[in-house]
Amino acid sequence: MLEDKNQSRTSLSELGEFKLIDHLTQHTVIHHKDTVKGIGDDCAVIGQGKTQTLVTTDLLVEGVHFDLSYMPLKHLGYKAVMVNLSDVYAMNGMAKQITVSIAVSNRFTLEALEELYAGIQLACNTYKVDLVGGDTTSSTKGLMISITAIGEVEKEKCVYRNGAGLNDLLVVSGDLGAAYLGLQVLEREKQVFQVNPNAEHELDKYTYLVERQLKPEARKDVVQLLSDLEVQPTSMIDISDGLSSEILHLCKQSKTGCQLYEDKIPLDQQVISTCEEFDMDSTTIALSGGEDYELLFTVKQEDFPKIKANPNFSIIGHMTDEPDLIQLVTRGGQKVDVIAQGWNAIG
Ligand code: ADP
Ligand code: MG
Repeated sequence: MLEDKNQSRTSLSELGEFKLIDHLTQHTVIHHKDTVKGIGDDCAVIGQGKTQTLVTTDLLVEGVHFDLSYMPLKHLGYKAVMVNLSDVYAMNGMAKQITVSIAVSNRFTLEALEELYAGIQLACNTYKVDLVGGDTTSSTKGLMISITAIGEVEKEKCVYRNGAGLNDLLVVSGDLGAAYLGLQVLEREKQVFQVNPNAEHELDKYTYLVERQLKPEARKDVVQLLSDLEVQPTSMIDISDGLSSEILHLCKQSKTGCQLYEDKIPLDQQVISTCEEFDMDSTTIALSGGEDYELLFTVKQEDFPKIKANPNFSIIGHMTDEPDLIQLVTRGGQKVDVIAQGWNAIG
């Protein structure tokens, strides 16, 4: 019998997600030399040979990660796959298989779960990934969905979070902030609907935002494009939690700092107009919003010509020699320190 001698009572809210993971896994021992990378990147990396295996897993919980009052089940299935594939692409690899595990309460009908699986199948067919297993069980309340993705990468192409070097350029694909604003729009609609179920939906001018929230696409195309351009990123991460948090991960693991330029952060026109309408700061939304599932990576200065004119990429900053210090150069030329959630307008 294993005895639990730990009598203290520490609230999890004191720790936060990352410190909790560090704490729980601090005594983890690697027993196999083909475990090339364990905890700490977008995927675990396994295998000593020319081709390595990538593994990543994510758990989505109803009421925490999704709200079925505005998230159709088909979209949820699709998004749950994207969240995982995105982590495989963030290692510069290709996803090949997934497993899907669900816990469902008796509130759900067969037809509802068929919808969920229609979304999963659509994602698998679109991204050429095979559904190879999973687990099904009941839950007392709500729906939980956990997906594991398995991928492949050539050893010399595998990109970690820790490879950024001094003066490397910081590059992001696509644009930022739209998924978070999409969620705000949907939350607002839900509240309007609760007050007046007959109210007209006013989603026309937010179509891009809502689509980014309900049907995100993982950037498989970016991995292919980087390969075509013969660009090997020095570090890479996918943007699930917001730009500032992801830059901090790259900086921490690469032992660098970063200088970021506000006017270079890519924003869609709908993000700009909706921020004005909601009286929100678009830079703050891009920095802290999350769920964009774009790829954030660094490249050597010599790769600048290959990246600069590409409409898929924005060069938003460069890495510096001041560890963990992320500075935002504002449109007005002021330098402000960025913290993981949003930014401090001081200095
Ligand atoms: P991502 O946002 O890319 O999905 P996370 O922030 O969820 O990554 O996780 C960071 C790292 O911690 C990953 O390597 C992940 O596999 C690992 N991790 C997360 N939760 C646990 C856990 N409960 N036990 C062991 N490792 C974990
Ligand atoms: Mg990730």
